[in-house]
Amino acid sequence: VKAKPQEELPFFTKQVKIATRNLGVIDPLSIDEYIARDGYFALHKAIKEMTPEEVISEVKKSELRGRGGAGFPTGLKWEFVRKAKGDIKYVICNADEGDPGAFMDRAILEGDPHSVVEAMTIAAYAVGAQKGFIYVRAEYPLAIERFSKALETAREYGFLGKNILGTGFSFDIEIRIGAGAFVCGEETALINSIEGKRGVPRVKPPYPATYGLWGKPTLINNVETYANIAPIILHGGDWFAQYGVEGSRGTKVFALAGKIKNTGLVEVPMGITLRELIYEIGGGVPDGKKLKAVQTGGPSGGCIPEEHLDTPITYDNLKKLGTIIGSGGMIVMDEDDCMVDVAKFFLEFTVEESCGQCTPCRDGTKKMLEILEKITAGEGTEEDLEVLKELGEHIMKTSLCGLGQTAPQPVVSTMRYFWDEYIAHVKEKRCPAKRCKEL
Ligand code: SF4
Repeated sequence: VKAKPQEELPFFTKQVKIATRNLGVIDPLSIDEYIARDGYFALHKAIKEMTPEEVISEVKKSELRGRGGAGFPTGLKWEFVRKAKGDIKYVICNADEGDPGAFMDRAILEGDPHSVVEAMTIAAYAVGAQKGFIYVRAEYPLAIERFSKALETAREYGFLGKNILGTGFSFDIEIRIGAGAFVCGEETALINSIEGKRGVPRVKPPYPATYGLWGKPTLINNVETYANIAPIILHGGDWFAQYGVEGSRGTKVFALAGKIKNTGLVEVPMGITLRELIYEIGGGVPDGKKLKAVQTGGPSGGCIPEEHLDTPITYDNLKKLGTIIGSGGMIVMDEDDCMVDVAKFFLEFTVEESCGQCTPCRDGTKKMLEILEKITAGEGTEEDLEVLKELGEHIMKTSLCGLGQTAPQPVVSTMRYFWDEYIAHVKEKRCPAKRCKEL
């Protein structure tokens, strides 16, 4: 049987590679190969031909939103830091990627580290910073090694350090290694950690844009957000905004995992439907099984049942369905998966990762987990379900940071779409998917 050419396969034709443009194409250790693919041309253009305001205006025009999870408009964030008062400002790259199943930042740092070095330098020029930090988790040793090498060669070539490209503009980047705490992906906890303090979130406001690292205005974006910057500067904000739909422009990298044939990273224009992503690019569910749901946004997100697969992927649409795009993790579940057990899995993760600073998150999530353990052991009651709902609402409203505010989401969303499964566990003492050992 003759294989179809790439240009006829939806796996390739439906993808648009911007943030992942160089992955697998160049040798990540070769700055020359990066330059051969237009690398550092955007930096040259930005600092030699554009004012900082023009750079920010182009990023605003692109309508790029933060790819780390919160989806805040990137250009606006840059403008806030630019306008913040103070001579000393910082630029940070958040590479503390921790969602189970998500590895897009790791792939970019390992496969195309210069794209982040270049973007951070452009960002520093735009906001007026002289110093940058990248906060990478210790579990990514290869990413750290390759990024260090990229910093070295960028300095040698005059793209980083003093008097960049002879313009008088100076900026340098230091690497800080995280110690494996999920909560340090929260921007203020990350800042505390860089400062050498315990990595716990701060009360916001003030936001880092005005009061960040060592109290100075600080720009924080994640790896994937930065990886989009050089092409935006090079081709223009309008070029980037041609992809996607209103409110969700450009492309997004997703990590396909779970019960799906083609697992791994894909980059698609925003607005593609979940069905196209899972069936045409992901190849569908293996072994002829039926898809039950898709979990997006990791432990901060929720599940989307099969009947909503024709929803275009946008920030707003997923919010309406009770979940988020998050950093791009997408875990597919089939008919054999128990949704109560899935909710328990994510809650175990957040209980483990809660920093313990505030009571609703520290104690509330533990209580929710205890109830889920009871239910999956066949000892749950209908009253437990009511308590679960109430606790979930309370924790979301009263927790200090995003981790606690979203921790109940996997439970809330599985209760919303798979209430029958909860009822089967507590009333009939039966697990419809036959996954809970005791049932
Ligand atoms: Fe820590 Fe949770 Fe409170 Fe966030 S919500 S500060 S993770 S205890």
